[in-house]
Amino acid sequence: MLVVMQEGATDTQIQAVIDRMVEMGFTVHRSTGVLHTVLGGVGPVEHFEPSDFEVMDGVKESHRIVSPYKLASRHFKPGGTVIKIGNVEFGGRHVVTMAGPCSVEGEDQIERAAEIVARGGAQVIRGGAFKPRSSPYSFQGMGEIGLRLLRQAADRWGLLVISEVMDQTQIPLLLNYSDILQVGARNMQNFNLLREIGKTRKPVLVKRGIAATIEELLLSAEYVLSGGNYEVMLCERGIRTFETSTRNTMDISAIPVLKRLTHLPVIADPSHGTGKRDYVMAMARAAVAAGADGLLVEVHHDPERALSDGAQTLRPEQFQEMMTQTRAIAQAIGRTA
Ligand code: PEP
Ligand code: MN
Repeated sequence: MLVVMQEGATDTQIQAVIDRMVEMGFTVHRSTGVLHTVLGGVGPVEHFEPSDFEVMDGVKESHRIVSPYKLASRHFKPGGTVIKIGNVEFGGRHVVTMAGPCSVEGEDQIERAAEIVARGGAQVIRGGAFKPRSSPYSFQGMGEIGLRLLRQAADRWGLLVISEVMDQTQIPLLLNYSDILQVGARNMQNFNLLREIGKTRKPVLVKRGIAATIEELLLSAEYVLSGGNYEVMLCERGIRTFETSTRNTMDISAIPVLKRLTHLPVIADPSHGTGKRDYVMAMARAAVAAGADGLLVEVHHDPERALSDGAQTLRPEQFQEMMTQTRAIAQAIGRTA
């Protein structure tokens, strides 16, 4: 259930509504917008009349939430969520670029990557230290050593860090080294992992599963939000279709659909979305034009020698060019990049 408070409702009025909701068995989540406070009541409460709340002091309106996801719904935060980490804002006017290699491979490689990323004007460096590989014989990542190298390179170049967490035992380690926890496509429905991340207060990027619907993606976000971690971003990274000329089919339409359905920032990953470096720039432009709040792209100083995902990884000069082009697209729609 959703209760929208009137503009200027007092703390006492808000508290009275929260108390009543709790009494009825709801868990209450509070969203403070520019004008209105919205109270989201979640829980297995079946018998209630939203209109009963409309007679309470300070209440503007009250509704039953019909979508299966509640806190992820745009209704809960009509103005949109802006996640602020340091001086970087996700979900604001600026389109944030997160870039770096698929995997952290060593000190020299990640240092070079950080230089490319920072000089290109991106704000966040990516790099997996725990890699979900389709084959158990492929490179599995450097683990904690990789995370340490990634953090050091990021700090030298004034960048934030995003890195993947594959299971809940890795959360404490990632909390130490990374500014954003990445939940990979293969883990989008690892509900135990999502619940544990919901208990942290670290921003998280949840990637769309390879065969997941938009509603399933939003329900995965709901797992994190319902734990009280409201700093969730969603990522379109391509889905599996019958098409074989690209690694995945980049669902650009998911971007405006998500922007309508949810208040959470939406990120696009054209690297995994296409699987081929020559298509990444076009899809990055399309994603920004479609309203993405950020990009996640793979870049490496020598993609041919990358230990994972080399075929979809941009060369440094392609990355520079992508930044120039996405900046122009952002400006055309009243944003910056
Ligand atoms: C990655 O970002 O390198 C990755 C493994 O992505 P995904 O989970 O989308 O396949
Ligand atoms: Mn990758």
